[in-house]
Amino acid sequence: MTAPPLIVSNHSDEALNAEIAFWATSANFAVKNAARAELPALCADANARAVIFELKNHDEEALDFLAKLSAGTKAKVIAVTALDQKTVSSIRRLFEAKALNIFVLERADFNTRLLADLTRPAGNGAGLDRDTLSRAIADGHVIAHYQPKVPFQPGIERYGVEALCRIQHPERGMLYPDSFIPLAEAHGLLHDLTDAVTVHAFRSLAQWDLQGLQLRLALNIAPSLLNDMTWYEKFQARCQEFQIDPGRITVEVTESSSHGGKALALEILSRLRLKGFLLSIDDFGTGFSSLETLYKLPFGELKIDKGFVFDIQKSTEARALIESTVALAKKLGLKVCAEGVESEAVFEALRELKCDDAQGYYVSKPLPAERVVPFLEEWRSKCRAQKQNPASKFANLHALLGALLTTDDEEDDHTVVLSSPAASAPGKETGTTAAAALPALVMSGNMLKALEQVQRAIAACTQAEVAGLRPKLEDLRTEIECGLAGGATAELISPDGTIKILGGNSFIIGRQASNAKADIAIPCRWLSRGEKNLRLFWRDERWLLEDLGSTNGHFLGAQRLLPGQPVALNPGKTRLDVGRMPDGSAPAWLSFELDAGGAVAISFGIAGNPSESDQAVWIVFQGEVALGRSPDSASFLAAGTADGVADILLRDGNLWIAPRAGHSVALSGARFSQRVPLVLDTTLEVGGVSWQVGALTALTLEAAPVAASA
Ligand code: C2E
Ligand code: CA
Ligand code: CA
Repeated sequence: MTAPPLIVSNHSDEALNAEIAFWATSANFAVKNAARAELPALCADANARAVIFELKNHDEEALDFLAKLSAGTKAKVIAVTALDQKTVSSIRRLFEAKALNIFVLERADFNTRLLADLTRPAGNGAGLDRDTLSRAIADGHVIAHYQPKVPFQPGIERYGVEALCRIQHPERGMLYPDSFIPLAEAHGLLHDLTDAVTVHAFRSLAQWDLQGLQLRLALNIAPSLLNDMTWYEKFQARCQEFQIDPGRITVEVTESSSHGGKALALEILSRLRLKGFLLSIDDFGTGFSSLETLYKLPFGELKIDKGFVFDIQKSTEARALIESTVALAKKLGLKVCAEGVESEAVFEALRELKCDDAQGYYVSKPLPAERVVPFLEEWRSKCRAQKQNPASKFANLHALLGALLTTDDEEDDHTVVLSSPAASAPGKETGTTAAAALPALVMSGNMLKALEQVQRAIAACTQAEVAGLRPKLEDLRTEIECGLAGGATAELISPDGTIKILGGNSFIIGRQASNAKADIAIPCRWLSRGEKNLRLFWRDERWLLEDLGSTNGHFLGAQRLLPGQPVALNPGKTRLDVGRMPDGSAPAWLSFELDAGGAVAISFGIAGNPSESDQAVWIVFQGEVALGRSPDSASFLAAGTADGVADILLRDGNLWIAPRAGHSVALSGARFSQRVPLVLDTTLEVGGVSWQVGALTALTLEAAPVAASA
């Protein structure tokens, strides 16, 4: 039998020794507490993995001793000290100057997770030392790969990525975080490393925006960075520099035994939350203070550790833990992300448990920045195809109807009995009687009517039905809504004209090309191809216009818009000339009208073409836009409708229509008093006006009398 790996400790802190001993037992390490004189002999042992050494003030002798010790052992030499941060920094510099590979940790930063990481045999990162690591950071070899985070529901199109740190080392090849994050942490290099990842990620985010995909970005922040304000201040400066909207950024922090309750960490997290960042608890379930953390800290997301996810099918305990975690998270209003989803079976199991987002090799491995957009576009089209696939649609609905028709509780007498709607007694409608009509509606494929009926059943639920029946009805409603949702764009067509509606934060305006799509597609030769054209985007609470390098240019009066110099839209109308002749005239124009509600109405015209009027054609918005005449709604949607009757919303990548209090909307005859997806290929009736709802198409131009540009 081979001897177990060994940890040697020469530390007077009994709590520290107890912590190490406790961890060592579970990790199959041997531990020996030894006097200083015994250390050289013990450390020469080939099994020695780490020596933990106490560093006190004015201990010149200890420095020499450590130097000798580290020369004579393969073990990691870790000095744990109660000295203050400044002294620790200067000791680190001293060791650095002497080229000594000794880790210096403040007592508060020491934890067994870090010890486990430091003593784990590393792959091609083996033998990394402070110097190599610090040079790799300084030389710009730190990059990030991005792992997609996607909703379990195929109907939701809200995608994100998590930045995962890599070192692209010129000699050693690609290094992974397990081999250098603990090292960076123990050598005080984590600030620089994290900043490098942040910069890489913010640049990538801007690139993806340009490619027309608005993603959320998650960054990993080690708890030790929350010990003082250094990281926070640097991070704020980076957010300013890159004009980052905090609402799109998730900060993932692991819970850790020694940091959970720190006042300053709590303050920093609260400040981040107040600024609008989403906080996520990483590796949930592995820490010591899970519940305490949840209640104390302003988290908005919880990531179930991959250890539990791997086991969901094998272990009833893991399944139970995930189930109760999801239930708890929902009660606290947190989103749940499951990481480490490696197979379709696990993906389906977690979807049934109502986790929100999935991350793992089944979806995608971490990707280089340039592969993110192609991957997610492909994922999106797969989801759309799946959503339309009758077999999968039917399977999910069937399962939900099954749940509705069965009861898991003997006491529960709200089992739905199939009946026709007429069979239920008028005036005494309950959730159960209203739900009786659902199976027939769903089975006949009349999903709008089914949705109308589900909403009605939910509203009719009695007190006794709230716990048992209503959640099942709500699940069914979500499934039907997902099946009906039609994406972030649509056209409202009436005899008076067509309004093209686009929800989102960033739009390319220009001519389409097979490899460069435009969100607002205008087949006019004065405009350049998609990605070289004009971009309208939302940042820092305002809309900005940027020319991305068009041939003919866009002009605000005599001022030509330039790449990299976006111009903010003011309330009211802004007219841009497209191209400019020597006499100051322009062959075409674009008009942008920003209303008080934040929506922009866009129209396009060709000079000298009388058939082009100043009529708004597109409406873009990033949160919601009012439908109906009201002081804050743009006039284009008001035509013919009564005062503020409904709002169009963008939620989870889909357009919805929400009638205001006292109003309702009808979609192909089904009537709704609550929000519903804006379903394509239906007739929408609201406020006495009727529209055909269709998919977004490119603008069609009348033949223009103006000659084409070169
Ligand atoms: P994490 O935050 O828990 O990230 C998830 C890790 O699990 C990543 O490993 C990812 O590649 C891996 N993973 C994702 N899906 C699967 C799956 O389906 N199966 C399996 N077996 N693994 C999966 P990676 O990139 O090696 O990162 C390891 C850890 O390093 C991260 O764990 C995170 O704690 C840390 N890390 C990464 N980047 C940074 C960073 O910029 N700053 C800090 N402080 N820590 C970082
Ligand atoms: Ca993470
Ligand atoms: Ca994790």
